Amino acid sequence: MQQYGDKVPFNWPYMTGRELHYIAQCHANGRFAGDGAFTRLCHQWLRDRTGAPGALLTHSCTAALEMAAILLDLQPGDEVIMPSFTFVSTANAFVLRGAVPVFVDIRPDTLNLDETQIEAAITPRTKAIAPVHYAGVGADMDAINAIAARHGLAVVEDAAQGVASSYKGRPLGSLGTYGAFSFHETKNVISGEGGALIVNDPSKVLEAEIVREKGTDRSRFLRGEVDKYTWRSVGSSFLPGELIAAFLWAQLQEADSITATRLAAWDRYYALTARLKGDGLLRRPVVPADCTHNAHMFYILLADGIDRNAVLSGLAARGVNAVFHYVPLHSSPAGLDLGRTDGPLPVTDHLHGRLIRLPLWCGLSEAQQERVVETLSDLLHSGAVRASD
Ligand SMILES: *Cc1c(COP(=O)(O)O)cnc(C)c1O
Repeated sequence: MQQYGDKVPFNWPYMTGRELHYIAQCHANGRFAGDGAFTRLCHQWLRDRTGAPGALLTHSCTAALEMAAILLDLQPGDEVIMPSFTFVSTANAFVLRGAVPVFVDIRPDTLNLDETQIEAAITPRTKAIAPVHYAGVGADMDAINAIAARHGLAVVEDAAQGVASSYKGRPLGSLGTYGAFSFHETKNVISGEGGALIVNDPSKVLEAEIVREKGTDRSRFLRGEVDKYTWRSVGSSFLPGELIAAFLWAQLQEADSITATRLAAWDRYYALTARLKGDGLLRRPVVPADCTHNAHMFYILLADGIDRNAVLSGLAARGVNAVFHYVPLHSSPAGLDLGRTDGPLPVTDHLHGRLIRLPLWCGLSEAQQERVVETLSDLLHSGAVRASD
């Protein structure tokens, strides 16, 4: 196995040990296309965990978001309200249908969509709200769903980072019209590339199956519910093959222990950075009391006057691979071209440049975490990272 030497990598994919066993079973079964036995096990797990009537594996969270955009029957010029502080797929999935992303600012505490600013951005063209659960911490879904209900809008949760997190006791991904999970290698539970669409409206489950199977009712045919399958609607191939599902099944079975291990590391970082917070050099993530989270990410927000990029390169030079996160979509070339903002986004503009994500993965040792924070502390207490302006 490849090793990371004496550096602390930002991420290191965790494997449970059963992945190859299930892949070997798949090999022995001789069934590699999608929707076989391992896919069914994963679907059952996702339905059990979310309580949703429908859960469908996709080849990515991006694909799940694209499916949601198709299912919403968006027309060119329709608008979808979302944060600018997110991954490109939140916007691209809707842009592919000709819709316009409307970027709204984030809350300074959780960095999630600021629910108090959504209503001002609604126009007659608005069709949906797409909140993102940043770092696996829930957006204020009760407030968002209430706004959506008042205005007749759909809600698509970008829950890419939110597997096994909850809001007011309910699983992320189960709270909107649709939820989208990611099993990308950088997430908590992985299959290399992979994702799932959670369908929370029972009347949309069959339609979602059709969109995922090239616009055909092949899923019903495989269950023996119809005697032939045919073209029913617009769709594409959004399903992963069985090898991916076999790998994922091993991971889903360990989802609770993966979450617990990550939470222990997250809590340790929180304690180790208390002094730096007390010294006014940074602030730590905020998890609202009504949310449980999955420790997808431990980020810090540096105090003003500290040069974030100097901190990142200082850490890298000392063998600690920490990273920044999103370049806000509203100020990126495609965002300027394809989206619009509803007024200025001062919190997004300010905080994205203050943020650093620390290494966090299953298997990260206490000694490595202490080294990360000591290295960070040395840098922050030295004059070398003061901003020059
Ligand atoms: C990772 C991520 C995605 C994309 O997930 P893929 O499975 O790689 O398509 C989308 N949105 C957010 C917020 C993410 O973190």
